[in-house]
Amino acid sequence: MRHFKFAIVLIVLISSCNEKHSFEHSSVNFELVELSKGVYGCIHKFGGKAICNVGIIDNGEETLIFDSFLSPSVAQELVDVVEKLGLSPIKYVVNSHSHNDHIRGNQVFSPDIKIISTTRTAELIKEWEPIDIEDEKEYAPQRLAYYDSLYNAYNGDTTAREYLQILMWRPYYETLAESHKVVKTRLPDVFVDNQQNYDGPERRVRIISRGQGHTESDLILYLPDDQILFTGDLVFNACHPYIPHGSIPDWKDWLNFMDSLNINVVVPGHGQLGSKEIITTMRGYILSIENLAAEMHNQGLTIENAEKIEIPDQYKDWWFDRFFLSNLKFAYSKINEK
Ligand SMILES: [Zn+2]
Repeated sequence: MRHFKFAIVLIVLISSCNEKHSFEHSSVNFELVELSKGVYGCIHKFGGKAICNVGIIDNGEETLIFDSFLSPSVAQELVDVVEKLGLSPIKYVVNSHSHNDHIRGNQVFSPDIKIISTTRTAELIKEWEPIDIEDEKEYAPQRLAYYDSLYNAYNGDTTAREYLQILMWRPYYETLAESHKVVKTRLPDVFVDNQQNYDGPERRVRIISRGQGHTESDLILYLPDDQILFTGDLVFNACHPYIPHGSIPDWKDWLNFMDSLNINVVVPGHGQLGSKEIITTMRGYILSIENLAAEMHNQGLTIENAEKIEIPDQYKDWWFDRFFLSNLKFAYSKINEK
């Protein structure tokens, strides 16, 4: 009888282990990619509502989440995934920077889970979130209606870039419009302004800030043992980054620093996973924006002429092409400040 009971316990244990191993996350919002044992990238799916990419890092004792998506509902999906994977309890959520798509899921994490950011990022969230949310309440439903009308009227090739652009932006405005009913700003409560280590028995975890770059203040998360880097929006893959909230010289310094690390896998803030090469490509893009602005300036062109400048061939297929003009104008305005 005793042996029989033991056998049943064993079967239950084995089947629950198998359950954890066989768990396959299926979601329209993000793809779960195992990068190393206990390290995952949650990569935004085209047409989904995650918008940014997120990291899950289990150091063997505690789990850290790197960025929290655009909405509480997708962040809740993330919490459920961590539970189903059978990882260590979530102890920290990192906000790489203050932009809405990286912080709006903060509120789903219980109060004993600490939110980490730089001191400046916390100030920016506190200052800007109420203003941004009020503005979004105005424009998000309007933009959603616009993309809805394009979506409903479209009867062309569903693989055409024009259609894919609609599929890309519509969920962004839809997520904003939906989440405004429930979103509550949860501010960071632990600050990392230089480097803080969150090492555990399975791996070393480095959270590093070097100040401004993509915004006035950014953080990255580096796993030296796994050679994996989570960059936040300091790196976009095959997407135009948004430069005007940051600093071009400091962004270049950040990219040089990241390039000096041993890295096999880069998890960018937006776009697909990449190798170290996507850091170099990002630096090339920023240099090219800077050079185009300098050329305009040397030719005596005014800032309005930026609208006539074409996107260079190598970036023509990149997403978020609306950011190109803002980036060029920003770089031009910085020349005039010198
Ligand atoms: Zn951003």
